[in-house]
Amino acid sequence: MFIPTTRKEMDRLGWREPDVVLVSGDTYTDNSYNGTALVGHWLLDHGFKVGIIAQPDISSGDDISRLGSPRLFWSVSAGCVDSMVANYTPAKKFRKEDDFTPGGVNDRRPDRACIAYTNLIKRHIKGSPIILAGIEASLRRIAHYDFWSDSVRRSILFDSKADALVYGMGELTNLDLARRIQAGEDWRDAYGICRIESSPPPECSVIPSYEEVSDRSDRRPFMKAYSIFRKNSDPKTALPLCQRHGDRWLVQNRPRRCMTSEELDSAYGSSFENAVHPYYAKQGKVKAMETVRNSVTTHRGCYGDCSFCAISVHQGTTVVSRSKGSIIDEVRRMASAKGFNGIIQDVGGPTANMYGIECAKKIAKGRCEDRRCLGGRPCPHLPIDHSGQIDLLDSLVEIDGVRRVFVNSGIRHDLIVADRRNGSRYLDDLVANHVSGQMKIAPEHISDEVLELMGKPGSGVLLDFKNMFDRACRSMHLDEYLTYYFMAAHPGCTESDMRELAGFCSKKLSIRPEQVQVFTPTPSTYSTAMWWCGTDIDGRPIPVDRSIDGRQHQKDIVAGRRNARRSLRDADGTLQTVRRPGGCGLRGQEGFLLCLVDRQRFRHSQDFRLSERRSGRCPSRFR
Ligand code: SF4
Repeated sequence: MFIPTTRKEMDRLGWREPDVVLVSGDTYTDNSYNGTALVGHWLLDHGFKVGIIAQPDISSGDDISRLGSPRLFWSVSAGCVDSMVANYTPAKKFRKEDDFTPGGVNDRRPDRACIAYTNLIKRHIKGSPIILAGIEASLRRIAHYDFWSDSVRRSILFDSKADALVYGMGELTNLDLARRIQAGEDWRDAYGICRIESSPPPECSVIPSYEEVSDRSDRRPFMKAYSIFRKNSDPKTALPLCQRHGDRWLVQNRPRRCMTSEELDSAYGSSFENAVHPYYAKQGKVKAMETVRNSVTTHRGCYGDCSFCAISVHQGTTVVSRSKGSIIDEVRRMASAKGFNGIIQDVGGPTANMYGIECAKKIAKGRCEDRRCLGGRPCPHLPIDHSGQIDLLDSLVEIDGVRRVFVNSGIRHDLIVADRRNGSRYLDDLVANHVSGQMKIAPEHISDEVLELMGKPGSGVLLDFKNMFDRACRSMHLDEYLTYYFMAAHPGCTESDMRELAGFCSKKLSIRPEQVQVFTPTPSTYSTAMWWCGTDIDGRPIPVDRSIDGRQHQKDIVAGRRNARRSLRDADGTLQTVRRPGGCGLRGQEGFLLCLVDRQRFRHSQDFRLSERRSGRCPSRFR
């Protein structure tokens, strides 16, 4: 069912008032890729009355007050991406298009949407508590560097004046809050929330204050704060954190545990309509819906833990997978829906080939503090085995009405290389059946120093993977190829590193890459801490190119697009970038969705059509 978004719909259900109203910066698409819909259905399935107000007009109270005041609380989110990332390019130019807005024009999501919506509610409807949630709130929960104002900002809880903030994936925490508030119990010690107090609670790990971390003349406290923040992110081991802001304290309670597989099955198996809510559908086409309508999420979390990626901050580094039965049931529902064209567009998650693979030690005792699960080389304790994914894909192809199943989520090529038993078999299966002429991977760079700072594997693994891929294509007489995604201007990356990358691409990969993204410092990642501090986590100085021209020049060295850039700028004052599958720095449930949308755009690009011609396929089959 659709979650009510108007008073009329509530009347039809016989509701006098909603228990919880979810406010979002994205339009309301009723599917599991929309975090607002996912949390809404989860609360509904647990007996709460939920309403959704999407993209309210902030110039009047008409939109925000149309459901009345919720009995328990407001849950306010900027949408599936931080509103500043959604609204601005890495060159800080306004994005004119938005795939999460009906009609596609980016004119409904305000900058710093969590703050704008909280102010809107406070102006027009007094009463119920306002609780922030979603990736914007999650990533801005402690004092953080904000690229768009080039300054360290306070926790968003202070700037918004909301009552609390839910961080990480929100189903369990929102349900706990709803139950406690309904029962009239104290909820301020709930796991997975941040709140403001007048003094620090006992047993709290104190991180350097806002005043210390915002001091431009000494940036060491910022890195120290980041280091404590990172260490205390695993639900098994984290302590509560607190950070002084003036005479008050931001308190971060312990993280909420991950959902179990059974809970994930239940959340994703809810009665989604897999469509845009009619109230918003009549306002125009929502492109994002087309991208995910026939896609299925197999798991959440990512132990890739790339330094620039927001996923470990928001979703966590523990991968929790859905059961095979639940995924099959969802695809069966898609296949039996009216108008289904036989194509499952994507079976994956933040990284497709982490499905069903997790470390027993991490699940029992928490993440290791002193090493990454993947990083330069996979940890020997990670039980890498792709047989479960092969089995899953085989089963999905067998479902009545399904003609093709694609894997469009990013894959970690180093995981495939490391799986001696089933890596080749998995790759053969992907190449033969589950990619459309090209496979996209995100090595990001080839310079050892830069890769180490990024937490990515080295160029040797990339070449091993390329050999495996070429061998698979040759043996099956397929004309497919690899598309590589690289990143320019990451902290530690210099022009000389980019020249090394350009030479490698030309000599070893025989390509001139087109998919080169300029690094954008999103709040609360390790790469952003390096960008702001100019050092790594141990205080060693690293070069950082912070100028817009310098960063663009790094990209041009590899992509060779200097002239194209100039003409684009002259034309409309806008620099558009293509975000990538895997390693985009914007991920999480939310960023992942955005990546899917970008891949969809890419499919309609000249590059994709060229690849389709090369592989002898008709592009229209995939629309
Ligand atoms: S033992 Fe290895 S795979 Fe497990 S949590 Fe530690 S680093 Fe990750």
